[in-house]
Amino acid sequence: MSISNAAAFAASLDAQLAELDLSARLRLVAGLEGRAVFTTSLGIEDQVITAAIGWNGLPVEVSTLETGRLFKETVDLIAETEERFGISIKRFYPKPDDIDAYAAKYGLNGFYESVEARHACCHVRKLVPLAEALSGARFWVTGLRRSQSGNRASTPFAEYDAERDLIKVNPLADWSIDDVNAYVEAESVPTNPLHKRGYPSIGCEPCTRAIKPGEPERAGRWWWENDEKRECGLHVPEAATSLVPTPA
Ligand code: SF4
Repeated sequence: MSISNAAAFAASLDAQLAELDLSARLRLVAGLEGRAVFTTSLGIEDQVITAAIGWNGLPVEVSTLETGRLFKETVDLIAETEERFGISIKRFYPKPDDIDAYAAKYGLNGFYESVEARHACCHVRKLVPLAEALSGARFWVTGLRRSQSGNRASTPFAEYDAERDLIKVNPLADWSIDDVNAYVEAESVPTNPLHKRGYPSIGCEPCTRAIKPGEPERAGRWWWENDEKRECGLHVPEAATSLVPTPA
């Protein structure tokens, strides 16, 4: 499919998804031709999507990036989630040689020292495993929501990701955090206990802190970097993150 055809297909899919509820959105994507991969960080939004996939028995692969720096609570939740929904979550790990090369150049925790070093760590621990997880996929399902941050405010339900040459699907794009909490409560979805300790957004342990009352949801991610567009490169082009002096 050409880029313009893929973009037009994504726009059409976006319009269809806007009219549906969560289960119907996922069912629609799962029924289309081509492999669909959902990447979960085990965050509360992702748990909602995992529940909908598991309970509906949808043919969507569920994968996670096991960076090697996750909280114990997150690692424990992977197994609990598999058990609860009767699914298998595929783990993707960084390559040992990449970690060794990173540590030799920057130090194991060198990500605190510069934006470049932080992006380099996210590259080897997240982006390389993500590329492996998405290899051959036609659809990439994510838990992005518009209200998570200013950087995500225009998240569509579906868009063509030219960098990865696939259709990115965000079935919770229009959900608020209250919607997410209400679903989790009503359906008794297992969640990371850190959420109740002030961590609305949870990434790697050394790069995530609890937020203070009134702070944006993602303020605890890479908190030492003074830029509201902080991202790890999973959901913005990696070239863009490397050009932003105080990270994306
Ligand atoms: S979030 Fe922190 S520890 Fe995790 S990959 Fe990025 S820089 Fe490395």
